[in-house]
This record gives sequence, C-alpha cells and structure tokens, in this order.
Amino acid sequence: MTTYTLEEAHRLIAPLDIEPDDTSHIGEEKLRVRQIESERLRKNAFSRVQQELDIKKHTNMKDPSCDLRKMNDRVPFKLVYEKLMDEKPKGKYWTCPVCGKQTMSYYPKPNRVHINNKGYCHPNQGGCGKSTNSVNLIRLKLRYLFPEALKWLLANYDPVDYGVIPTFCLSDKDKEKYSHKV
Ligand SMILES: [Zn+2]
Repeated sequence: MTTYTLEEAHRLIAPLDIEPDDTSHIGEEKLRVRQIESERLRKNAFSRVQQELDIKKHTNMKDPSCDLRKMNDRVPFKLVYEKLMDEKPKGKYWTCPVCGKQTMSYYPKPNRVHINNKGYCHPNQGGCGKSTNSVNLIRLKLRYLFPEALKWLLANYDPVDYGVIPTFCLSDKDKEKYSHKV
C-alpha cells in the first residue's frame, strides 16, 4: 500500500492547475488528431492515385477475374438495361440498343442457346445480329470508357450482393458522381 505525505495527498486531490483560458493542452491534442487524420488522408490519396493509375488492371474485359468482367457477368443485364433504356423490358423481344429495333432477346441462364447475361439481336427478326452486355450498354448509352464503366457499376450495384469482392475501391466522390440519377 502506498502512503502519501499530507502535501502529496493535497497535490493529488487538487484540481489540475490550469487557468480557465489555458487551452493549450486541448490545442495540442487537437493538433495531434489532425496530424493523424491528415496522414490517413494522405495515405488514402496515395492509394487512390495508385488505383487510378492501375485501373486498366481492374477493367480488362478479357480477364474473367478482373472487377469489370465480374460485375458485367454477375449483375443481371436486365437490371442495367432497365436503368439505362427508357423502357422496361417485356415480352420476348426488347429494343436493341444498337439498331433500335425490337428484336433483341435475353437469356439470363447459361446453356440457353448461346447467350449468357447479355442481349442478342436476332437477324432473322430483322435485327442487326449484335450482342450487347452490360458494359457495352453502359459505353453505348453513357459514352463511358472501361474505367468509367467500372465506377458506374460499382456505384449503382453493391458488388457484395452479386458475390463480387472488388479489388478496386470506389471513392466517396466517385460513388456520388457515378450513381445513376433518374
Ligand atoms: Zn440490333
């Protein structure tokens, strides 16, 4: 057990010897927090810049493991179509975004004819014969390049809902910028 002299005890229970207007200790604490925060933001900015530089890695449609390809394959084409076309798809044939004729069909499941998660415009119905996936549609309707298409998909569809854990991390600014406004 520690024993104190009377003088030490008084010092221990006395209020901190700080004048009411002496806030320098608070100032120091705030400064420290601000330094930590700015360090965090600087690191974020650094990894953000790095990601932007590396974005081609995340948007190579030939690579099935890249973010853009995964989002394209897993988010149902119908959802993207509904967002970007001015019509709700109904019936067997939908309006083809390439030729504008109502000659496109969509087979959402694999092993149904030759199409999976993209629309196909039937020439035997007078259509153009082109197939359109989500990324094609985004590029066609929004005039986006692949990196912007990835940001648009990530901003509008939570990747986790579709079993995708993206390697590219969307900034809050881009989330706001690319989220689809009707
Ligand atoms: Zn067509």
